[in-house]
Amino acid sequence: MPLFRKRGGEPIDCPRCAVQLKPESVKKFGPNVLIDVCPSCGGTWYDKGELAKVLEDRSLHERLVSFPSSGKRSSLACPRCDSEMVTRSEGDVEVDSCISCTGVWLDRGEEIGLKAKLDLERHGQTSDFAGDAVFYSLITGHMR
Ligand SMILES: [Zn+2]
Ligand SMILES: [Zn+2]
Repeated sequence: MPLFRKRGGEPIDCPRCAVQLKPESVKKFGPNVLIDVCPSCGGTWYDKGELAKVLEDRSLHERLVSFPSSGKRSSLACPRCDSEMVTRSEGDVEVDSCISCTGVWLDRGEEIGLKAKLDLERHGQTSDFAGDAVFYSLITGHMR
């Protein structure tokens, strides 16, 4: 592991399997969001603010990265800055976030869980998304 702090935009390694993450562009309104996906375990790294853009929900993101002391200590180190991360639960989803750079690590499929939860909060039901989520999680590793 390098001792220097990596700057944003440089390749980073998966905090679980130490494989280099692959940048992947997510189409959103406005500029595309460049997230980092692990080709091995399918986890995704979101630098500061990126998850809010992908989920199109700033308040959830802020909840995930605020009050780091209330989360339990994660077994993972931040792939971006090597700082400690904390784990917290959002419904069924366990989210690891960095207390220093506020990046967020999601294991494979967790983004879907977050979206389903958001749906639930907004509309009182998971709408069609929960069904799609199962399908998506099956194909997510192969999707371009
Ligand atoms: Zn991985
Ligand atoms: Zn960090």
